[in-house]
Amino acid sequence: MIKRILPGATIGVLGSGQLGRMFALAARRMGYRVHTLSPDYDSPTGQIADLEVTASYDDLDAVSEFARRVSVVTFEFENVPAPTAEAAARCAPVRPAGSILHITQQRIREKSFLRNGGVPTTPYREVHSVADLDQAVSELGCPAVLKTAAFGYDGKGQFRIDSPGRVAEAWDAIGRQEAVLEAFIDFEQEISVVAARGDDGQFVHYGAIENQHSRHILDVSIAPARVPDAVAREAVEMSRCILDKLGVVGVLCVEFFVTREHKLLVNELAPRPHNSGHLTVDACVTSQFEQQLRAVCGLPLGSTAMHRPAAMANLLGDLWADGEPDWQAACAFPEVKLHLYGKLEPRPGRKMGHLTALNSDSEEAYQTVLKARRSLTHQA
Ligand code: AMP
Repeated sequence: MIKRILPGATIGVLGSGQLGRMFALAARRMGYRVHTLSPDYDSPTGQIADLEVTASYDDLDAVSEFARRVSVVTFEFENVPAPTAEAAARCAPVRPAGSILHITQQRIREKSFLRNGGVPTTPYREVHSVADLDQAVSELGCPAVLKTAAFGYDGKGQFRIDSPGRVAEAWDAIGRQEAVLEAFIDFEQEISVVAARGDDGQFVHYGAIENQHSRHILDVSIAPARVPDAVAREAVEMSRCILDKLGVVGVLCVEFFVTREHKLLVNELAPRPHNSGHLTVDACVTSQFEQQLRAVCGLPLGSTAMHRPAAMANLLGDLWADGEPDWQAACAFPEVKLHLYGKLEPRPGRKMGHLTALNSDSEEAYQTVLKARRSLTHQA
C-alpha cells in the first residue's frame, strides 16, 4: 500500500500542455499544489500551476531538483525520456511507473506486450530496414500503414502504403527509422476506454467512448459510444486486463478499432488522461483528471457515473484562420461548455480547446456540439 498524499501536498507534472492544465485545475480545486516542468514557458499547465519550471527533459539536475520538491511525480506527456523518469524516481515516487512509459512510448514494445498478453491488435510486422518493409508489405498486403516505432502521435510519423511500388517512398517519408507496418483496418468505428487503477487494484472506467478522427487527429468523441452493449463490455474487460497486467497506478486509455464484424482490435495505449476523456470533466461525477490525481495520491477512486450523455468537439488552430472565433456564439448554446487551453499561437492542427455538449441523448449531444463549433466561424 502506498503512502497517502493528502490535500496540501505538492504534485509534480512532467509536461505542460492541456492535459496537465486540466489535471492542475482538478488538483488545485482539491487543495493540492502543482509544479510543472517542461521546456516551455507560459504554458497551458504553467498558467494554472503554483510553479512552472522551464527546463529540458534531458537536464537531469533540473529534473532531480524538481522531483525533490514534490510528493509525487506524474506526467501528461508520455514521451518523457526514460532517464528523466529514472532521475525523478530517485527523488520522489513516479506514477504511473517509468517502466510503463517505456512500454507504451514505443510501438514495437507496446504491440509485443499486447500480443504476449493475448490481446488482439491490428496485424503488424516489425520493420528495421527497407528489405523488412518489402517483406512486410508482401505478407500483409495493401493498403497498409507504416508507423515509426517511437514518438508518434496524432498521425505524425505515419505513411499509408497503397501499392507495393511505394515502399521506398514510404521508408524515406518516415525518415528510414525503426517502424511497424500495420494492415489497414476498414473499421466500422473507433472507440476508447478511459480507465483508472489504484495501487490497491481498484479499477474504474468510463465505458466505451466513440471517437471520430479527421486528418489523423481526434475530432469528436461521443459518450456513451453508439456500439452494441456486448462490444462495450468486451472493450472494458480488455482494458481491465491491460491495466492489471501493466500494474498501472493512474489513468490509462485504450484505443480500439471496431471491425465490421464487431471484433475489437487494440490500436494503441496512452498511459495518461486522454483527449477522448475530456468530456468526463462536464459529464461525470469524477473527471479523468481527478481520477488521475486520486490514483497517484493513493486516495480511493471516485464514481465515474455519467450525469448525462455528452459529446466533445476539438477546437484546432485552423478555426482561427479568419480571426478570433466567435466565443459568444458558442456560449449561446446553454448546454455547451467551452474549454480553452491558454495557448497563445493558434497554429493549424494545434489543439487550442474543446467544446462539450450535454443532452439526455448522445446523438443529440453530438449534433449540438457540431452546431456549436460551426457557430464559432458563422457556418450554418
Ligand atoms: P494512431 O496515431 O496510430 O492512433 O493513428 C491515428 C489514426 O489513424 C487512428 O485513430 C485511425 O483513425 C487511423 N489509423 C491508424 N492506424 C490505422 C490502421 N491500421 N488502419 C486504419 N486506420 C488507421
